[in-house]
Amino acid sequence: ILIAMILGVVVGRLFSFWVSESQDTVVNLFIFELSMKQFFVEGLFNVGGSIFITSLKMLVVPLVFISLVCGVCSLNDSAKIGRLGAKSIGLYLFTTAIAITFAISIALLISPGEGMNLTTDQTYQAKEAPSFAQVLIDMFPSNPVNAMAEGNMLQIIVFSLLFGVAMALSGKAGERIASLFEDLNKIVMRMVTILMDLAPYGVFCLMAKLFTYLELSEIVQLAQYFFTVLLVLLVHATVTYPSLMVLLGKLNPVPFLIKMKDTLMFAFSTASSNATMPITLNTVTKKLGANNSIASFTIPLGATVNMDGTAIMQGVATVFIAQVYGIDLSFADYVAVLITATLASIGAAGVPGVGLILLAMVFQQVGLPVEGIALILGVDRLLDMTRTAVNVTGDAAVTCLIAKSESQLDEKRFAASETQLTNM
Ligand code: ASP
Repeated sequence: ILIAMILGVVVGRLFSFWVSESQDTVVNLFIFELSMKQFFVEGLFNVGGSIFITSLKMLVVPLVFISLVCGVCSLNDSAKIGRLGAKSIGLYLFTTAIAITFAISIALLISPGEGMNLTTDQTYQAKEAPSFAQVLIDMFPSNPVNAMAEGNMLQIIVFSLLFGVAMALSGKAGERIASLFEDLNKIVMRMVTILMDLAPYGVFCLMAKLFTYLELSEIVQLAQYFFTVLLVLLVHATVTYPSLMVLLGKLNPVPFLIKMKDTLMFAFSTASSNATMPITLNTVTKKLGANNSIASFTIPLGATVNMDGTAIMQGVATVFIAQVYGIDLSFADYVAVLITATLASIGAAGVPGVGLILLAMVFQQVGLPVEGIALILGVDRLLDMTRTAVNVTGDAAVTCLIAKSESQLDEKRFAASETQLTNM
């Protein structure tokens, strides 16, 4: 996958150069006359990449529903489910709060927006932030089929939890259906591994198309902002999570980080925690040894509720835009940023670009000009890809910690290397 990714980037950059130099290089393909760009980028890469992402998304809803029902049914104890819910939401919010505090502090130290004079002709419109009460109400589906059709993760989680609990309480009927769900779970997980085998092709196409159109010149202009976000993302992934794993779970973070690499590449190339979910679930259960009864709950929950990487971008962007516009934010404003960014992420789906929508809500809260977001739009795609990788690392780290605290972590599997895993 890594080779495919690098190849995709190289081919994409070559195309970007080639396409802009000679727009009209035409190839004859049977009866069609196509420019190179139409043939390779819009045709081959676009079709390959889109089918790959769509296939990943296709698995998300069945996988969450089936694996969560299996997980809840095997927990078989509603007090345990409540405790699990409270622990995971608590830990997710805690890591997000650390992330944003880190981001604001480092950005204030580096001052990426000091003395910058930026203008843009792009505009950005804010969306209304839903109230916290509304977020809670919206977690409950009035129609579970609709929730699944729309891929509304929190609603699917609530329905699956209720369904699983009821199944566990239904005696013989529940047992019969439970074995059916176990079988279905195996089949869907198999679909995930089939898709993983095709990943190099999909990743290559996604990268090649993206890097054909990516404007790298904007990064130079916004270098201070861009690299500050990258720095904090890197620190969070390599210092915060490992420290939490050692302090809270007495776990060695090295095998964790090594075995996350494939998942990170999926997250990076799709820029979507939701689409990466099947792979994340596969990694934490098969490679890291977290029991499905925990992971099937914490991973989909994390994909929606936990966005540490996104929070980091919001922290740095707030400081950056405030400095560019010469606005002084008080300590109370930064606390408001922390609370809004942490809470806003709860209801937002892990899809590409959602971080900017959340950022607009944060800006409104502290009175920063929302149109300032247009200034950072140009470099957001690359940051989106990177922060998505951090978001899924957070989901997996919290899952391992919770599984450990519930004695549902196979520590041998957790510590095993990938070659040892194949023999297990
Ligand atoms: N793309 C991110 C994710 O899926 C969300 C964002 O920051 O835009 O986790």
